[in-house]
Amino acid sequence: MRIGGIETGGTKFICGLADETGNVLEQTTIPTEDPETTLGKVADFFRENPIDAIGIAAFGPVDVHPQSPDYGMIGKTPKFAWQYVNLITELQKNLPVPIRLDTDVNAAALAESAAYGTENLAYVTVGTGLGAGAIVEGKLVHGLLHPEMGHIAIRRHPGDPFPGCCPYHADCLEGMASGTAMRARTGKSGKDLPADDDAWIYEADYLGQLAVTLLLTLSSEKIIFGGGVLQNDWLLPMIVEKAETQLNDYLLLPKPVGEIISKPALGTQSGLQGAFLLGRSLIE
Ligand code: ZN
Repeated sequence: MRIGGIETGGTKFICGLADETGNVLEQTTIPTEDPETTLGKVADFFRENPIDAIGIAAFGPVDVHPQSPDYGMIGKTPKFAWQYVNLITELQKNLPVPIRLDTDVNAAALAESAAYGTENLAYVTVGTGLGAGAIVEGKLVHGLLHPEMGHIAIRRHPGDPFPGCCPYHADCLEGMASGTAMRARTGKSGKDLPADDDAWIYEADYLGQLAVTLLLTLSSEKIIFGGGVLQNDWLLPMIVEKAETQLNDYLLLPKPVGEIISKPALGTQSGLQGAFLLGRSLIE
């Protein structure tokens, strides 16, 4: 059994081929250009590496409901060329195999849930954008559309004058704490910003608020923080500290917040491994 996995992103598409246990046999990276060019190259990769099914971990917003006539279609996105492109129908023109698609963060949550052995987990990514996916009692959360936790309202840090950069809500969580917000606030990308810059205090405060919200709403056993901004190792312990302060011992947690808030067990591979799990579910 050979499973294809695709993780789509604003700068690159990662395509892989795995066996049924998730061992990666082949992997390639394709730059994100216009849909025709990029999806053409994806199809070429899988023609050279034939597969029985494909899983897609897609950037959102995207229709994730298999019974919907628009299943696989990307919604309003700043990546304008990709707006209203249906990833499933476009790929199936050249690759007549079953395809299952979910959001990139839900796919990553699925893979991390398997890796950590817990059925209640949230996966947060903080990069160019900010998003979160969740698995509750073993099931990925979809609901009406799919969760868009990056755009929740947050309480502003009193020292933070930054107006926010979300084109829809200005100072929502993504508008205040994404990598894009970090760059707009400081003029530097996260990797060039020293650990003692105040911007990290605000960043940890806002991500701590998200962790607390996840604990209070979904009661997640694990809250994973991944994505480019978390490559700075000092940030995760700061988020733990902020979340503990904000919770103020309200919840009778069976384990410390520092064990709940964690790094991805799969490093940067969570999305692609989640795509393989989505693909595998079609042929089990
Ligand atoms: Zn927003």
